[in-house]
Amino acid sequence: MGIFSRGKKTPEPQNNGHLPPDLVETVFNALADGLIVISEQNILQFINPAAMAMVGLTDASLILGLDPRTILRFENSEGMVLDENNNPIVGAIWNNAALETKDYILLTAQNQRRPVALNIIPLGNGAKVLVLRDITKELEEEGEKTEFISTASHEMRTPVASIEGYLGLALNPQTATIDERARKYLEEAHQSSQHLGRLFQDLLDTTKLDDHKVRVRMQPVEVVGLVKSIADGQAPMMAQKNLRYTFGATDAAAAPERKMEQLVYASVDVDFLREVLNNLIENAIKYTPEGGAVWVNARGDGDRVLINVTDTGMGVSPDNLKHIFQKFYRVDNSQTREIGGTGLGLYLVKERTEAMGGKVWAESSFGEGSTFYVSLPRLTTEEYERRKQIIANQEAMGAAAVAQAQAAQITAQAQAQAAAQAGQVAAPAPVVQQVMPPAQANLQNPLPK
Ligand code: ADP
Repeated sequence: MGIFSRGKKTPEPQNNGHLPPDLVETVFNALADGLIVISEQNILQFINPAAMAMVGLTDASLILGLDPRTILRFENSEGMVLDENNNPIVGAIWNNAALETKDYILLTAQNQRRPVALNIIPLGNGAKVLVLRDITKELEEEGEKTEFISTASHEMRTPVASIEGYLGLALNPQTATIDERARKYLEEAHQSSQHLGRLFQDLLDTTKLDDHKVRVRMQPVEVVGLVKSIADGQAPMMAQKNLRYTFGATDAAAAPERKMEQLVYASVDVDFLREVLNNLIENAIKYTPEGGAVWVNARGDGDRVLINVTDTGMGVSPDNLKHIFQKFYRVDNSQTREIGGTGLGLYLVKERTEAMGGKVWAESSFGEGSTFYVSLPRLTTEEYERRKQIIANQEAMGAAAVAQAQAAQITAQAQAQAAAQAGQVAAPAPVVQQVMPPAQANLQNPLPK
């Protein structure tokens, strides 16, 4: 038979190309990812060995037919065990909804913590498949990478600050004499060193936020006044670029002289909010040509606080708009290429806003301008007053504890002195440790009524 002969005919695939049921189970059992099938009645129908290992059990026959909540227990990233009846995973299972998350840590039967990527796939007939992937190693590698970037940017910031400082001195007519050509070169170098310094700072902030190393310190504030004071702080920068600045208009089309006097309350991390707004306003300045305008406003909008930074600048095309909050994303066109930036600003804005329980998004018309919105949960006046009172009480308790400790030290010193005068051997006065007022950070969580 020649090599071109077809030989024996390959047998037709059986089951119309589908795997026989026993082979399906063999394949599922061989998977490295955990696979759990939950029936329409929300009971455990199938669990493969990888999933058994992840939940810390060995005998599948003991758990099949049970409620999935008996084996699916999770913690959030703050180490709080999720309510077994009311959490996003149970919600998705009971509502037949799809879910993809890496936010929760699986608790094994032995109470060991196992970070997982979890995927819930509804099958359409009421049953659903849960896919669990152990991401311990992935997180470790990510952590090492983050640590490296953080250390490198921290170490590099110092020499860059020094270069920037010396270039500043070289450019200052009071400290150095240089010819015009050298000035041009040094100005370029100065700008680049500033850019590098900004990049390292942004990288450092990004790694700290990604790594949850920054503590969010929430406190009740009146938002309109705070936003206005932050935005007003940027007014000189806007004036320098000949941009018309208005506070209080809701959008670029609204009357600029419109004023909002309403008091609006929210719980925010003041430093985070300052960074967020400064970043958005700096972008508005950067991406708006001379003679344009920038509007900033903050107002109550139902149970939210809505802040907007609007400009009449170059705008962002719909294609780019989808990506601008991603890490390192910069719009690349002839206009933006000339404007310096790191592509980390809006990523940091998003991270910080979300850390305060808020949302950020943008609307834009290419060539006409953009509006960046920040929405935060609003506090009622009563809730604001209540939280202020709690903080005042905590501070008073802290101050009282400090005063009490100081009084104890004074008494102990006086007793020691008296004892010494009386010729006795004095015991050393106790050292008073500084008593700090209780942290306010717990206010980020809803307070018990
Ligand atoms: P960058 O350091 O490049 O400014 P950002 O993360 O702050 O980084 O912004 C990402 C991109 O989004 C920018 O490169 C720019 O193209 C676009 N962008 C941000 N703000 C504006 C704005 N107000 N108007 C037009 N484009 C903007």
